[in-house]
Amino acid sequence: LCHPPARRIALRFVDETGSTNLDLLSALPRLDGPTLLLARSQTAGRGRAGRSWLSEPGKSLTFSLAWPFGRPVHGLVGLPLAVGVALAEALASLSLDARLKWPNDLLADGRKLAGILIETAAGDGAAGRESWAVIGIGINLAMDAAMLARIGRPAAGADWLLELDQDLLLATLLNHLAEAMLLFEQRGLPAFTARWNARHAHAGREVVILDNGSVLHEGRAAGIDDIGRLLLDTPRGRIAVMAGDVSLRPK
Ligand code: ATP
Repeated sequence: LCHPPARRIALRFVDETGSTNLDLLSALPRLDGPTLLLARSQTAGRGRAGRSWLSEPGKSLTFSLAWPFGRPVHGLVGLPLAVGVALAEALASLSLDARLKWPNDLLADGRKLAGILIETAAGDGAAGRESWAVIGIGINLAMDAAMLARIGRPAAGADWLLELDQDLLLATLLNHLAEAMLLFEQRGLPAFTARWNARHAHAGREVVILDNGSVLHEGRAAGIDDIGRLLLDTPRGRIAVMAGDVSLRPK
């Protein structure tokens, strides 16, 4: 499935599971390389900080990719941004203009189209794996009123993707992801910063950064820096915001 010199990806498909991320996290000791787990139906998908990711069989694409790295866990800071770039560029190659919302979402027409949840674990250094990342991805293919009511927030579907051969869609996403993981391993986030900024959903827009619902910062979004912080131009000058568990909203 991958361009050389990408490693092979083991593919696993299940009909239904709670969370593909949790399944791969518990399988890590038994994995011997990059592994994809795709669920037709994911019943307890998770977002950041205990939030949930909703999906519906046939209308969503939900999968996780476990990837071993030669860098330690702290060297994976910024990985969600690199994954966002890979997904947005994969979708662009299929004629879908997806934009990146800091730190971990993809938007279409300003509404959430896909979410990324990365969980990491220490690896077996003796086997040359310093860490693992389990990269969970949920993409809305179709969006209907019932689903919008369940989500309770603006969300978008990419109906066009449903019309594609689903194997082609998955292969395109995996090729871009594998290439991005190999580049991240070698060069880290700096290799992706300009590409992220080129697809930034809120470039030059006034945004607020919320921490648990209360406003932490307000300013004009100016893109990310080489360690994945969001740069905000405020009346007090330029500040850099760490991802942590803050949320961004357009003003
Ligand atoms: P925020 O959107 O507040 O910045 P976040 O980006 O961290 O938070 P995640 O934790 O990545 O959000 O995703 C979970 C949130 O996404 C949920 O709280 C819900 O609001 C929303 N959501 C859940 N399922 C979907 C879906 N299928 N499509 C779009 N949005 C969804």
